[in-house]
Amino acid sequence: MTDKARAVARFSELPSSAYTRQLAEPFPDPKWVHFNEPLARELGISLKQNDDALSVLSGQSPFMECEPLAMAYSGHQFGVFNPGLGDGRGLLYGEFVDTQNRPWELHLKGAGRTPYSRHGDGRAVLRSSIREYLASEHMAALGVPTTRALSLVTSRAIQVHRETIEPAAMVARLASTHVRFGHFEHYFYRQDLDGLTALKNWVLKHHFPSLYERKESTEALVGFLTIQVQRNADLVADWQAVGFCHGVMNTDNMSISGETFDYGPYGFMDAYQPDWICNHSDHNGRYAFNQQPKIAYWNLACLAQTFAHWLSVELLQSLIDEFPKAFELAYLNRMRSKLGLLTKHPEDDRLVQSLLALMAQNQSDYSLTFRSLLSVEAEYHLELKDNFSDQVALADWVARYKSRLLLDQSTVEERQALMRQSNPAYVLRTYMAQQAIESAEQGDMTEFNRLLNAMIFPYDDRVACGDYQRSPPDWGRGLSLSCSS
Ligand code: AMP
Ligand code: MG
Repeated sequence: MTDKARAVARFSELPSSAYTRQLAEPFPDPKWVHFNEPLARELGISLKQNDDALSVLSGQSPFMECEPLAMAYSGHQFGVFNPGLGDGRGLLYGEFVDTQNRPWELHLKGAGRTPYSRHGDGRAVLRSSIREYLASEHMAALGVPTTRALSLVTSRAIQVHRETIEPAAMVARLASTHVRFGHFEHYFYRQDLDGLTALKNWVLKHHFPSLYERKESTEALVGFLTIQVQRNADLVADWQAVGFCHGVMNTDNMSISGETFDYGPYGFMDAYQPDWICNHSDHNGRYAFNQQPKIAYWNLACLAQTFAHWLSVELLQSLIDEFPKAFELAYLNRMRSKLGLLTKHPEDDRLVQSLLALMAQNQSDYSLTFRSLLSVEAEYHLELKDNFSDQVALADWVARYKSRLLLDQSTVEERQALMRQSNPAYVLRTYMAQQAIESAEQGDMTEFNRLLNAMIFPYDDRVACGDYQRSPPDWGRGLSLSCSS
C-alpha cells in the first residue's frame, strides 16, 4: 500500500502490561455501509471503497503493515472503580501520521473477542455502529472535538444477540489517541509505578512533545494536567452549548485528547430539559445533561489522583479546582455567540440563564429556539414565538435582549453571521437516527445516506433538508429506545 500517511508503531513502546497482541475474529461476507472518502483523502490514506479496503476495514487484512493489539485499561463506571476493563470488542489496528504530521490511531470497533472481553461477545451491532458513525461526523461538522469515523461495514453472517438478534457491524474509528483517563488509573490502582511512569512519559513524548523535554519536572506534569482541565472545560462547554448529552461519562470513556469519545446512549436535546437523562440505564441521573460539567470535574480528580506520587495533593487539588471557572468562561463565551453578542457585559450570564429558564418552562425545542433567534430582527419574530407558549414572558425577555444588543453597536449582518455559525439548523435527533437504523437493518441505506449528508452541514439550512429541522413527532417523545450496544 503506498499511502501518503506513514505507519508508525508507537503503542508497543509501552510495557507489555499495556496491551495484548490480538487478531480480529473472522468477519464473513462483509458489506460496505459507508466509506468516508473525504476523510481518507484529507489524511493521505490511500484506501478506496474497494474489496481490498473492505478486507482491511473488516479486520481481515493488516492496515499499513501494523500489528493489531487490544489495550488494557481500567476506569470508574458510574462512580465505582472497575480494574478489569480494556478493549473487549475493539482493536488498535494501526497508527500513522498524516500528511500534516498529525498522529492518528485506527481502531476497529466490533472486531471480536480479546482477553479483556469478560463475558462479552466482542461484537458491535449495526444499530450502535450507525449511531457512532453519524454522531462522530456530525460533531466534527458542528466543530466539537471528536473521534472520527472512517468506515462502517456490516455482516449478516454473524448473529449478535442483544435484546433481539441484530446484524453485526464494525466501525473504523480514528483518534489522535485512544489513551483514556482509565489508562492512568490502571497503573495507579495496581501500584505499578514503573508502568505509570512509562505511560506518563509515552503520553508526553507522543502527544505533548513540548512538555516531554522536561518530563521529570513538576512543570511538565502541571502543564499536562492544566491542559486536561482546559480541554475538558472546552469540550463540555461545547456539549452544553449544542445540547449534547454523552450518557456514559465513565473515566474509561474520557480521552486525554479532549475529544468526544465512545459514543453509546448519547442524545441531542429536543425539548429543553436541564436534567434530561439520555441513558435509559442511568437510573439516578448521574450523567444527566446538567450534571456533565460536575462529572467532568469529578473525572479530572480521578486522573489527577494518579499523579499523587509526583505532585502534592494540595497542588493537584488546586489544579483541578481551576475547572469550574474555566468551564463557566468557556460556556458563557459559547452562549454569547449563540445570542449574537460580540462583546462581553456583566449581565450576559443572567440574560442567558433567564432564556434557558423560560425555555425549560415552555418546553421549547433547544436547537430550534436558538436558531430562531435569527428572526428577532423581524418585526413579529414569528419563528421565535413559535417555540414558546408564554408569549408575555417571551416579550419581556426579547425586550431585555434587544436593549443588550444595542450595547454591542453591532450590525444585523455581523451578529446574524455569528449566530448562523453558532446555532445549528439541524442536530442529529434520536428519532431520525432510529429511522435510518430501521431502514438499514432491512438493507436499505437510503435514509442513512440522506441523514449523513444533511448532518455534515449542520449550519446550512438548505431547503432540501428542511424536514430535518423538525422536533420529534409525539410518538418519538414516548418512545423508549434501547441504545445499549
Ligand atoms: P463501553 O460501555 O462500550 O464503554 O464498554 C465498557 C467495557 O466493556 C469495555 O472494557 C469494553 O471493551 C467492554 N465491552 C463492551 N461491549 C462489549 C462486548 N460486546 N464484548 C466484549 N466487551 C465489551
Ligand atoms: Mg468505553
